[in-house]
Amino acid sequence: MYEYVGPAELLDRVEPGTFGEPVGMGAGEDGGEPFTYVVDLDGVLRIAPRRSEHVSCAGGRPVLAAGEIVLEGGRVVEVTNQSTGYCPGPESWTDVAAALDRAGIARPDGFTDVFVFRHCPSCAELNVVKDDHYVCVFCDADLPRPGLRARRGARRGP
Ligand SMILES: [Zn+2]
Repeated sequence: MYEYVGPAELLDRVEPGTFGEPVGMGAGEDGGEPFTYVVDLDGVLRIAPRRSEHVSCAGGRPVLAAGEIVLEGGRVVEVTNQSTGYCPGPESWTDVAAALDRAGIARPDGFTDVFVFRHCPSCAELNVVKDDHYVCVFCDADLPRPGLRARRGARRGP
């Protein structure tokens, strides 16, 4: 589960009781355009137009997953964990997959693009780690690395 960690003013702007639409309800979602999505605590994948904040799509609540999604021809063609509001880990895929399966929407076997988010232990700014470069772009401090997972792929996960 991921709590909202983005700017407080975006959370303030959330209208209580408003959520994104459950995926699969139509609403022009199937046009190859990227949408913002969250998987809520009930395991429902909700989408909103791309410019929407994830926290609005989630009604200000914690989520199981969040990111961007593109649907075309009734199937998912792109799906990522890109949400700076929730910074979901790559492992949130399990909940995305389960939500899509429940909605009966064809999907890939994993995120089409995986983002790694780290808050800097020194300056607290949010970094998106690229190319395994675990260094803060704001202050050059080292960012926490993912466990003992070998960076050169010497050890593969299950
Ligand atoms: Zn920093």
